[in-house]
Amino acid sequence: MLFSQNHINRIQDKFLPGLLRSRLSRAAKKSGLDKPTFLLSFDCDTYKDARVVGDVHRKLMDIGITPIYAVPGEVLLEGAEVYEGVAESGAEFINHGHYKHSRLLDDGETYESWNFYDQISRDEMEEDVLRGHETLTKFLGKEPKGFRSPHFGSFQKEEELADLYRVLNTKNYEFSTSTVPVKALHNRALYQASGLTEIPVGGGYDFPLTILDSYSFRYSKTFKYGPPDYIHQIKRLGDWFLSEKKPYLLNLYADPSQVYDWPEFFDVMKRLAPFNVPSYEALLELVDVK
Ligand SMILES: [Zn+2]
Repeated sequence: MLFSQNHINRIQDKFLPGLLRSRLSRAAKKSGLDKPTFLLSFDCDTYKDARVVGDVHRKLMDIGITPIYAVPGEVLLEGAEVYEGVAESGAEFINHGHYKHSRLLDDGETYESWNFYDQISRDEMEEDVLRGHETLTKFLGKEPKGFRSPHFGSFQKEEELADLYRVLNTKNYEFSTSTVPVKALHNRALYQASGLTEIPVGGGYDFPLTILDSYSFRYSKTFKYGPPDYIHQIKRLGDWFLSEKKPYLLNLYADPSQVYDWPEFFDVMKRLAPFNVPSYEALLELVDVK
């Protein structure tokens, strides 16, 4: 990985979080954003997501947030009925590969993961992307415009992303959202890469380069932060958005099965609702990504 967590921690220590936020705010302004902007995307990797997603989707729509969905093809087919309902409500779906890349173990908390794009051959990566494209096209009745790599954090090297974008270009993708927050610092909040727009995922208020990942914060036994930190970071971001109104892009992602039974999650989402943009396609219309 080009930016290891150690490297990122060093950057975070070197620049104070306030300075990082101002730099990310400048990166958002350069991309043409004139206010805080929030998108919520859901990676739905397991059967458990399909069980709870209808409920989670309705709750968020009631709050004023439209989630975006990244569902691997195999998982989408298994839960087709529930995902059809979600799609009918107007939610955007992006390609997240075809083959399953994660499984929830019987304890209901631990995930077994595979199909990391840096660990399979480029031919296998290409097949996963293209089959995912085919499955989602059939499901939607139109071609998807966006993509997120499975376990994207481990697939960040320039040559890895260039190989991915080459495949996406064969199907005329408009955007990918497969990179870590530090990419926004080095580029823009959204930036042009190989003819498409890359939209990095976002981090917290006090550690803007650490992804607010629902699994790590809520379930990981080794991660240094816990569930209250996740809630606190979103609260701080929401309050900051409201008081400063500076350009900023928070591209947050979570898994429905990791938040469905977490009332505090829905409470803090209310703070971000006024800043929600309902889809990546709507975001692209707002900005100048050249
Ligand atoms: Zn995934």
